Amino acid sequence: MSTLSPSLIARAKEVDLPALAGRYTRLRRWTRSEYAGPCPFCGGRDRFHVQAQRWLCRKCTSGRWADAIAFERMRTGAGFRETVSQLANEPILDPLTLAQAPAAEYSNEPPGEAWQKRGRALVAQAAGMLWSGAGVMWRRWLRGRGITERTARLARLGCLPDRRYDPPEWWGLPREGDRPKVWLPEGLLIPCFTRDHTLWYLTIRRLNTDRGKYVRVRGHRPGLYLGDSALKHQIVVITEGELDALLVWQEVHHLPVGVATLGSATACARGRWAERLAGKRLLLALDADAAGRTGETRWLEAYPSAVPLRWPESSKDLTEYHQHGGNLAALIQAHL
Ligand SMILES: [Zn+2]
Repeated sequence: MSTLSPSLIARAKEVDLPALAGRYTRLRRWTRSEYAGPCPFCGGRDRFHVQAQRWLCRKCTSGRWADAIAFERMRTGAGFRETVSQLANEPILDPLTLAQAPAAEYSNEPPGEAWQKRGRALVAQAAGMLWSGAGVMWRRWLRGRGITERTARLARLGCLPDRRYDPPEWWGLPREGDRPKVWLPEGLLIPCFTRDHTLWYLTIRRLNTDRGKYVRVRGHRPGLYLGDSALKHQIVVITEGELDALLVWQEVHHLPVGVATLGSATACARGRWAERLAGKRLLLALDADAAGRTGETRWLEAYPSAVPLRWPESSKDLTEYHQHGGNLAALIQAHL
């Protein structure tokens, strides 16, 4: 068995811990850099405390700080290796900043006006770059994944050729001591809009990095990517990431099937997004790896009638299946 690389373990520990823990307990702001609430494992009122990358419980950890890996292992009972590979697939936040999506507000409201305004401006600018000379490499990369220009334009994809740091005021975010800027690394910009033009989050897909392929821009809120397609259809394919979802959307638009993703292997729908999916028949198309299987188990707990999609083992996800010549529409139809 191969050994886990230190960078993979480091990435697992970089997960947005308040957001992760906030899926299992109600947190409220305790200090500027800390949230508190009932312990997801042993209850109480405020014995559980969480910061950007560490947590403690006065009982469970005897008040000692522990990391995200320890949290997930305690929650799931899974082994170290499985937990690391699962966490390493979660989106990370700007490592320079504290989690800016307070778990207590990790619910139904979109980001504030200033964030949306700045976000929309960035989306427009990045789209301009994608379709200019600066975007050649990313256009080729998208084509290689089977995503057509039409789809990319409809999805308002863009690219950021260079990393930059925005003043937080531009996003309506507080300037916090030693974490003064909003980090926008280089990569493909994927906006999560709903049809009322509300912008919920921005994901940046990076290349050639072992610090996490997906970064969410600080101040984001949980969104159901392409979730509007779930409004129209009774059957909804759930993918792990946005680019798989886009490909499915493109390839099966002639079928009476919606597609959506929370942009993570293991997140499960909550609040308004759970309502959006209530009563639907879900087809689960998560990656064929440990994280995907964990996510699948969670979805099946929440939606017992969901059906896992299965494809040949030679492909790890739907994009690879498509790249290997597989027919996504036929695959999905076979599961209807
Ligand atoms: Zn506890």
